[in-house]
Amino acid sequence: MTENHQARLLIIGPPGAGKGTQAARIVERYGVPWISTGDIFRANITAGTPLGQRVSALIETGKLVPDDLTNEIVADRLRRDDVAGGFLLDGYPRTVDQVHALDRVLEADARTLDAVVLLEVDTDVVVQRLLKRAEVEGRVDDTEDVIRHRQDVYAAQTAPLIDLFEARGILVTVDGLGSVDEVSERIATALDAKLEA
Ligand code: ADP
Repeated sequence: MTENHQARLLIIGPPGAGKGTQAARIVERYGVPWISTGDIFRANITAGTPLGQRVSALIETGKLVPDDLTNEIVADRLRRDDVAGGFLLDGYPRTVDQVHALDRVLEADARTLDAVVLLEVDTDVVVQRLLKRAEVEGRVDDTEDVIRHRQDVYAAQTAPLIDLFEARGILVTVDGLGSVDEVSERIATALDAKLEA
């Protein structure tokens, strides 16, 4: 894609689906800022900010940060000038309430989402990937119990969002099984088709 498309994108999928890895490829290809709520929270925890202190126990145990707090952080981020040409949201929205909050923020500026990338990966595969990542990265929420809990939270709170985006006609479903290059190629092909449609 050569023109400066106003790509307002989301990436969604179970913990361990490879959202972060693929998000990096997407922001490079479409030239939009990457907004990861997980990264925002982790950066605040590392820096010891009041927000970080508030959310660290929740993140360590795989619970969601309350909607109000998360919505406010994303709303502030989406008011900054650098998202004028679009953005990629990663890890947000994660609940129906967050979808509605995001809708309100975008509607206030007559903005809408262009596409939602769903990375589909089998639960057993993602649990194995996360256990492996735990050895390499040492993320506090990558222990087996917490990983299983995060999968349950995803199934209960986030998976229902898929139907909602499907009904809006903006869902792009991609098989997340394969090499990083294979998956990123699939995403690029499917996203280009959706954005040009
Ligand atoms: P993963 O998708 O592997 O769980 P993330 O980095 O997206 O990783 O999220 C890590 C943790 O950060 C979540 O388990 C949750 O505690 C918190 N978090 C991230 N995004 C949100 C959100 N949109 N709403 C509530 N909590 C969130």
